Amino acid sequence: MTATVIDGKQIAGRIRAEVASQVERLRREHDVVPGLAVVLVGDDPASEVYIASKTKTTIEAGMKSFDHRLPKSVSEVELIALVRKLNADSAVSGILLQLPLPEHIDAQTVIAAIDPAKDVDGFHPLNVGRLASGNPVLVPGTPLGCVLLAKSVHPSLSGMDAVVVGRSNIVGRPLAALLLAENATVTVAHSKTADLPAVCRRADLLCVAVGKPGMVRGDWIRPGATVIDVGINRIPASNGKSRIVGDVVFAEAAERAGAITPVPGGVGPMTIACLLLNTLRAACLAHGLPVPALEPDA
Ligand code: NDP
Repeated sequence: MTATVIDGKQIAGRIRAEVASQVERLRREHDVVPGLAVVLVGDDPASEVYIASKTKTTIEAGMKSFDHRLPKSVSEVELIALVRKLNADSAVSGILLQLPLPEHIDAQTVIAAIDPAKDVDGFHPLNVGRLASGNPVLVPGTPLGCVLLAKSVHPSLSGMDAVVVGRSNIVGRPLAALLLAENATVTVAHSKTADLPAVCRRADLLCVAVGKPGMVRGDWIRPGATVIDVGINRIPASNGKSRIVGDVVFAEAAERAGAITPVPGGVGPMTIACLLLNTLRAACLAHGLPVPALEPDA
């Protein structure tokens, strides 16, 4: 293997520690304690695990954590009523609506009901528009995490050829907007892209968010490129259990790349760290205090 492995766990740990120290300063100097409200509808086991981990890291960062669990049968009206209550609650700095929602609820309608100043996932149309117009305030955690990982290798992304594979609203599109804001030259590829391997081979920075295990092969990577693998795919393992792999064949890509994120331990830990950063930023915004940078001093 020739590539440097980008340690997302370590970088996320540094961001969480920096957030915790700023939370402590906020409490000491301004008597402000950021609070994150998490809303979970239904009892999806994967979401339960994710929420438990979010609650633990929120508390470890010195923030308050408020969990709201609603039955799968809850109506859209009832869910929006809860969102409005959280919007009005001054102890709540950030609201996280765990997706996906049951089919009878329109996620976009509920997201639009969240106060944009508390939208720590960055999915509200106002925050999407701010990011698209180059004025990001609260931005989605996973793409922000990808940019911070890329910048751990290249402090400036200016002028780099960046290829983002995937154009979802939660990863690909916001990631492309963030990379553009970093002055990279950005190509967004998707399922209709012609000759995807050739497009990927152009990239100095290749970010893959597709959800297809091992789709990107080693010979799709430009020698020396930086590869950010967002994919989280559970596949059967030889011991009869299952294991998590990314969208990139790690062993092959690591022979050609200059730097690469592992799965697990790459982008995954950054998502929660960036969520905490957003919650801290939202608390500062709400109290008219200076807002910490999207790129923490970690
Ligand atoms: P979506 O399913 O919403 O989007 C997938 C994207 O990949 C689409 O834009 C689709 O194109 C594109 N795509 C699908 N097949 C191909 C193909 N053969 N060639 C090129 N492009 C293709 O997924 P998400 O963005 O939500 O998630 C992507 C991956 O990232 C998943 O594995 C998910 O688990 C992971 N993830 C990880 C997170 C983390 O914290 N690390 C957080 C969020 C997601 P089209 O638009 O044309 O259909």
